[in-house]
Amino acid sequence: MAEWFKNFVESSTNTKYVPLGSKCTLCDKKLNCLSTGFFSCNAVQLADGAICKTCQEKLMLLLQSKNQCLPLALQEKEPYFSMCVENIFATTQENAKTFLGECEIFCKETIAQQGNCSGMFRIEHINRIKPKATDVGIARAQKLKDKIVLYGYVQAGKFKKGDCIKIVDGMRVIDTKILEAYVYDCEENTLNANLKANMGKQQLNTWQKGWLCLDTETLINNTALVFV
Ligand SMILES: [Zn+2]
Repeated sequence: MAEWFKNFVESSTNTKYVPLGSKCTLCDKKLNCLSTGFFSCNAVQLADGAICKTCQEKLMLLLQSKNQCLPLALQEKEPYFSMCVENIFATTQENAKTFLGECEIFCKETIAQQGNCSGMFRIEHINRIKPKATDVGIARAQKLKDKIVLYGYVQAGKFKKGDCIKIVDGMRVIDTKILEAYVYDCEENTLNANLKANMGKQQLNTWQKGWLCLDTETLINNTALVFV
């Protein structure tokens, strides 16, 4: 490949030239940087090579709540200590891979401690809702009044409408049910729009972001863990 062409690709996509047929070192997915055009490039550059966008998104989610996703003993150790969302591009592929692995092991152990659970949801923020009857109908407005809605992502398993869940908030354990669940997939997608539409599969799979409307009015901390 001509040098000028590599430079052109690098400057126009903000990604170093990725040879055709390259794979993501974390998940083995094929990286398309040139074959499908610049704007559908799925490669993201780290310090020593490219990974796919899906793996980068997983890394970002885990790094946002790093001190909850990593065991205490590893949180202050290098390279994990200096890994953060802002400097993800300075991380090496190997560090990213071992970080994902450590988080996965810790997640499995945390779920196993709960006994009969198979999934875990991480909370980013919490809302109390009071939807208007004119927006959602009288019956749903009554059902959802003052209920707690969690926004976050599924780290393992799946969470769907009707599931009984367990929230562990420090010493408190709250057993409740998911009244409604919505997947977040783009910037225009808001909680209010989902409440009004009340459509879709109402299920969040692993690594999906979204909202869980709970059958509880009890406020919890966003460091609480949600299990299914
Ligand atoms: Zn990948």
